[in-house]
Amino acid sequence: MATFAINLKDGTVESNRETIVGIDLGTTNSLVAYMNNGQPVCVSGADGKSTLVPSVVHFSENEQITVGDEAKRFLVTDPSNTIYSVKRLMGKSFKDVHGTESFYGYQIIDDDTDSLVKIRVKDRFYTPVELSAHILRELKVRIEQNLQSTISKAVITVPAYFNDTQRQATRDAGKLAGLDVLRIVNEPTAAALAYGLGQGADAPPGTVAVYDLGGGTFDISILRIENGIFEVLSTNGDTFLGGDDFDRAIVHLWQQELGITTQELNDNKELGQEIRLLAEAAKKHLSGADEFDAELQGRKVAITKSRFERLVEPLIERTMACCNNALRDAGLHPEQIDHIIMVGGSTRMPCVKNTVSAFFGKPVFDSLNPDEVVALGAAIQADILAGNQKELLLLDVTPLSLGIETVGGLMDVIIPRNSKIPSKAGRQYTTSIDGQKNLKISVFQGERDLVEHNRKLGEFILRDIPPMPAGLPKIDIQFIINADGILTVRARELRSNLETQVEIKPTYGISEEEMAMMLLDSIQHAQSDMQARGLLEARNEANNMLLSGRKFLQQNHAILTEEEKSHTNALLNELEAATKSDDKDVIHRAIETLNTYTTPLAHRALDINIQSAMAGKKI
Ligand code: AMP
Repeated sequence: MATFAINLKDGTVESNRETIVGIDLGTTNSLVAYMNNGQPVCVSGADGKSTLVPSVVHFSENEQITVGDEAKRFLVTDPSNTIYSVKRLMGKSFKDVHGTESFYGYQIIDDDTDSLVKIRVKDRFYTPVELSAHILRELKVRIEQNLQSTISKAVITVPAYFNDTQRQATRDAGKLAGLDVLRIVNEPTAAALAYGLGQGADAPPGTVAVYDLGGGTFDISILRIENGIFEVLSTNGDTFLGGDDFDRAIVHLWQQELGITTQELNDNKELGQEIRLLAEAAKKHLSGADEFDAELQGRKVAITKSRFERLVEPLIERTMACCNNALRDAGLHPEQIDHIIMVGGSTRMPCVKNTVSAFFGKPVFDSLNPDEVVALGAAIQADILAGNQKELLLLDVTPLSLGIETVGGLMDVIIPRNSKIPSKAGRQYTTSIDGQKNLKISVFQGERDLVEHNRKLGEFILRDIPPMPAGLPKIDIQFIINADGILTVRARELRSNLETQVEIKPTYGISEEEMAMMLLDSIQHAQSDMQARGLLEARNEANNMLLSGRKFLQQNHAILTEEEKSHTNALLNELEAATKSDDKDVIHRAIETLNTYTTPLAHRALDINIQSAMAGKKI
């Protein structure tokens, strides 16, 4: 509970004993935990039953927002206004998620740009950060009601493979929910903490595999724990493999047995939902029994444990392939792993536990509730930050390589993948033109050789370099990653001591100065910051579209019909008028209208231009 101490030296009030909570912000479910008399506990809802809050947000007709179990009920009846799996979209651009849109029952805006994804619900546009903030608010209310006190500080867990943008988005969501996010912790690290690994001054060193099979995702992480330091050696996984696939395997079997086509299930939503729920019930039942039978709309359905296990063997094999990859990256063999931790509801299946245990050649840790283990560990981490457990330190690794763009669009890696964090690395560069005054530094993340295949994190310009012949300036670029995995890039011209630096956040489409201003604002301004940012993003996007749209008209004058030209012009003018609005949704709607109309025109123009270019080529 919160107690306050007065610092006698300067009279300031310190709230150093305030409860800091641990939050597992999951893809399917989220949980909040805290330390109660030295033991981590997850908090249940008002009904006192489940500690899980489904990560689902529903927007009703009158804009009323519900979260959790209540929202989950709308997944079938009102899918377009019910947001689930938003964690998959955190810190991603439309280009990142392109190809997986059909997975979501709601509308993701196709703006075909590098800016972060937006989700359309009725006439409004939301970011994954705003939607995640709703889930976090629900957890905040839950624990505040439970503890009867205000909670303002939290530790939030993220998958070990989350990149800087995704971590920053998670922090922003916490801020928006009124939480000061003291630390972003990797989920496997939290799981290891929950099992008490590495705690205590005389704890022996060891390697740990954290096998996390949830509802829709699979992650395997290899950790090294030594002297109270937790280090992620490697991560691997499959973002579209989880308990839902096991349910689907049973559904397919029953479909075949009963002669039900997939079309039938799509058309008859009620039947589709019923068979899915029954399949999940069968799967769960078979975790503790040898056979399952039930009735599906008057027809008998059944499955035995051995049939089920044969059915899902390929799914489990896929997870084992990931385990092999993770071990290879860590440079280890299965027998070198000392402990194996089971995380996620799907690890309750005995066939999963047995396969994993056989692979590593030892029993797995499964005594804690696999749904709660990450949140429990987050609560322990929060307790460490509150100063209650001093001997523990956390160390993670970079999930992807970080580097800058060099001549010809090549990726120059400065911090390689799986480097320990916090970490610092640098390299020297020079100019390629005589008297070059400015140097643009573009920062990328990824494993490919060409930056165009990697993810751009941001860019900045080192200005006013004193005029020198090409090759003479010495420009030192340093990458510094702090304990939260946030990257600072610093550029310095060593001859003149000119220096500039940038903290890397998502490419929001606004200038660094604007972003810095907004992020400097305290947690109390999070809501208004978010609105301002949304509007700026929309205006910027609109201005870019206005520029490219007008250029497109000029360049393709001969290809377009009069009607197409005048309609595109009218839509451009409408968009220009919309940019004056203070309502970002008005701008987004105008962008979407213009996009919808011009996309087929652009495709046609491209085809014609390619054809004429080819026609002019001699073979
Ligand atoms: P999570 O995302 O970690 O909450 O995992 C939820 C997944 O665990 C869902 O696919 C559930 O069907 C699955 N699950 C929960 N309990 C069991 C059980 N007893 N046996 C098998 N799967 C389960």
